[in-house]
Amino acid sequence: MAMPLVRLFGKVGRLLPRPWSSFQVALCPMSSRTVTNIATEQAVNTGPMFPPLQTYSEEETMMREAVKKYAQERIAPFVSKMDENSSMDTEVISSLFEQGLMGIEIGTEYGGTGSSFFSSILVIEELAKVDPSVAVLCDIQNTLINTLLMNLGTEEQKEKYLMSLATDMVGSFCLSEAGSGSDAFSLKTKAEKHKDYYIINGSKMWISNAEQAGIFLVMANADPSAGYRGITCFIVEQNTAGLQIGKKENKLGLRASSTCPLTFDNVQVHEKNILGKVGQGYKYAIGMLNGGRIGIAAQMLGLAQGCFDHAVPYTKQRVQFGKRIFDFQGMQHQIAHVATQLEAARLLTYNAARLKEAGRPFIKEACMAKYFASEVATLTTSKCIEWMGGVGFTKDYPIEKYYRDCKIGTIYEGTTNIQLTTMAKLIDQEYDS
Ligand SMILES: Cc1cc2nc3c(=O)[nH]c(=O)nc-3n(C[C@H](O)[C@H](O)[C@H](O)COP(=O)(O)OP(=O)(O)OC[C@H]3O[C@@H](n4cnc5c(N)ncnc54)[C@H](O)[C@@H]3O)c2cc1C
Repeated sequence: MAMPLVRLFGKVGRLLPRPWSSFQVALCPMSSRTVTNIATEQAVNTGPMFPPLQTYSEEETMMREAVKKYAQERIAPFVSKMDENSSMDTEVISSLFEQGLMGIEIGTEYGGTGSSFFSSILVIEELAKVDPSVAVLCDIQNTLINTLLMNLGTEEQKEKYLMSLATDMVGSFCLSEAGSGSDAFSLKTKAEKHKDYYIINGSKMWISNAEQAGIFLVMANADPSAGYRGITCFIVEQNTAGLQIGKKENKLGLRASSTCPLTFDNVQVHEKNILGKVGQGYKYAIGMLNGGRIGIAAQMLGLAQGCFDHAVPYTKQRVQFGKRIFDFQGMQHQIAHVATQLEAARLLTYNAARLKEAGRPFIKEACMAKYFASEVATLTTSKCIEWMGGVGFTKDYPIEKYYRDCKIGTIYEGTTNIQLTTMAKLIDQEYDS
């Protein structure tokens, strides 16, 4: 049993500090290096030296190792059953909160862990190695819901919702509709103003974590005459009259993660529950999904690595023609090729995350990371099944589940085509004279 990373005795003020929140160790981005020239025996300053991209601060290392242990001990025993039952175990959800993993960047004053975006990426990667469904629950909460509330919430909204999001409440992000997926801003859900409240009518589709959510961040158009410039973000509580959560989808993969349609039938929401400004919802959605894509890249990377970590030891044990199957050159070249792809996906993902954290442009790099990591996850899981032969195709091993789970990477938070289109638009701009 993993030692709890945080002992939760209630809400903010009664929390013991999380191990990684008591200190913030910054990465040392640059140091100067002096070497001796062998010929002249003189000291030569070789200039600035940058740490490798896979360098972690003390806090990041601690978080990564603690989550790895936690996932093995507290999530792994549930994975197969949750997949079979298409249902997330409540014990898994409560342990994520208990460990402080649902409010990673939320400040400690709101009961959060007070850590960084990069730490969230490492957590998502570690969770996805064990269960990509659990990873997406944590990913959406941290990179989408909490980020929107932290950046745009009024003090009253933060007091009311951030504290719960960090400690016991799941949130859902509601943008897609039956008629608007890639073309998200052609959404039809409307919000009509009456005095100091709005009436929302319409429907949403594909809403992750809807079964567990206590709040929904809903994009609805408050001024359809202005087109997408009418899109506004509303905080809708789960028990609001007129909000109905439909039957969850029966999916190929990510089965433990609930994905449901929602209907809004004259749902009344007070104007104080508008997140940010009226008509700015499209900007918030774009901005947040840009960062969210790095989270999906981390999910795909973790998934692929988790699958690889199961398959390679098998190839070292399985004997055919009197040799370990790992020893055949045909196998070795494939394994080395996939390992290279995994390394490249990791570097793209970490680089995008570090760029975002440094406040530098990262949109193109985030698209590249999500696009590439999804491709690598598809390749890795497919190859791992082949390397394990018949048993890789059965449910006796977790490989077939990774294979099913990885497909979503090329679809949600912008399909692969949409990532490529965004990259091409930015490349086009780079070459404007
Ligand atoms: C499991 C799951 C969870 C999800 N969770 C959420 C959630 O929590 N919240 C939420 O709001 N949404 C969620 N979604 C919705 C998801 O973001 C959309 O499915 C996705 O954006 C694609 O939209 P679509 O399904 O309508 O496909 P479409 O937009 O119909 O796309 C179909 C195909 O057409 C291609 N295509 C479309 N337009 C173009 C173009 N301009 N150029 C080239 N190709 C194009 C696409 O690349 C794709 O291959 C989820 C979806 C799934 C399956």
